[in-house]
Amino acid sequence: MNGDVLIIGSGAAGLTAALELAQQCKVIVLAKGGISDGATSWAQGGIAAVLETTDTFESHVEDTMIAGAGLNNRQTVEHVVEQAPAAIKRLAELGVPFDLGADQHWHLTREGGHSHRRIVHVHDATGLAVQQALEKAAAAHPNITLVPDRVAIDLIMGRHQMRFSTSGRIHGVYALNRTTGLVETFTARATILASGGAGRTYLYSTAPRGATGDGIAMAWRAGCRVSNMEFMQFHPTCLYNLEVKNFLITEAVRGEGGQLKIPTTGERFMLRFDARGELAPRDIVARAIDHEIKRLGLDYVHLDISHKPAGFVRALGYESSHSTRRINIIVRK
Ligand SMILES: Cc1cc2nc3c(=O)[nH]c(=O)nc-3n(C[C@H](O)[C@H](O)[C@H](O)COP(=O)(O)OP(=O)(O)OC[C@H]3O[C@@H](n4cnc5c(N)ncnc54)[C@H](O)[C@@H]3O)c2cc1C
Repeated sequence: MNGDVLIIGSGAAGLTAALELAQQCKVIVLAKGGISDGATSWAQGGIAAVLETTDTFESHVEDTMIAGAGLNNRQTVEHVVEQAPAAIKRLAELGVPFDLGADQHWHLTREGGHSHRRIVHVHDATGLAVQQALEKAAAAHPNITLVPDRVAIDLIMGRHQMRFSTSGRIHGVYALNRTTGLVETFTARATILASGGAGRTYLYSTAPRGATGDGIAMAWRAGCRVSNMEFMQFHPTCLYNLEVKNFLITEAVRGEGGQLKIPTTGERFMLRFDARGELAPRDIVARAIDHEIKRLGLDYVHLDISHKPAGFVRALGYESSHSTRRINIIVRK
């Protein structure tokens, strides 16, 4: 199959690029499994942007720099923060039904590391709503062809076949058709890798199974510079229950006052690590939990949201399984 632009990945990144480019060219979008199977559909809490008059870009930039321990590229942070309100508006125009507050404006929640309420959300399944809206728009676009169940294996470079030039250019990908078991060729004038993260290369992860860094590896094999690989997102909290598959315990639980406690003593421990307590940035919370688990030889710690009524917890998508209404969580050991 041939197009002007080939995009590997049908999550938020791939579909957003496709919708922009389709205004001028024919775009093919490949997905490893179903079109909705990436991490985007799994995103829960919401998306951060300056949307209140009391909030400022400077404050969002500073919060982000602090959360990134000063390692962030300030120019990139400023660009993303300044573009975020327009991006949210575009998503809303595409039909993402962000929750509204009593004042009929977007309802904003607060998450770790943020000094303001600035997270727009769709209940606690924001990513699914974003994926569905992007997918609907892409599927309806005459210049976009969505091709599921094709596992891109490698980029087509000059060295692969004589009929392609040896200029160092990329001409597309070889992809395994999961239905027929045959390898197919997809060619284009430009190829975009939007194939998501590599979280599933670790033993414990909240990322979907397909997040195995395929695009990063393909880019590396093609001679691209790969950098910053030490920055890997891990959610600090997921369910600990040996009988069921673990899943992310939304960060909104900490945002709404959930406290991390030692199961044996009930001690709230986060304040020993950071004055922001459970609202400290992710890496600090994850390291604190890991520290306590290792120090005390625990299997898990508790995330206690029992100050909120059961209905509130159910609305977050969780049923409490114990009378204590505490959620067991574990971090990687
Ligand atoms: C549980 C969870 C909760 C999250 N919560 C939030 C949140 O609240 N707020 C927030 O901002 N972010 C959140 N995130 C992060 C967010 O989901 C991701 O940063 C974002 O969705 C990444 O989008 P993407 O398009 O880059 O990747 P993805 O959505 O993962 O898409 C990757 C695409 O690439 C395709 N692909 C991969 N390899 C191949 C291959 N070899 N061949 C063909 N196709 C391939 C996949 O099929 C998929 O279509 C969360 C992530 C997880 C896992």
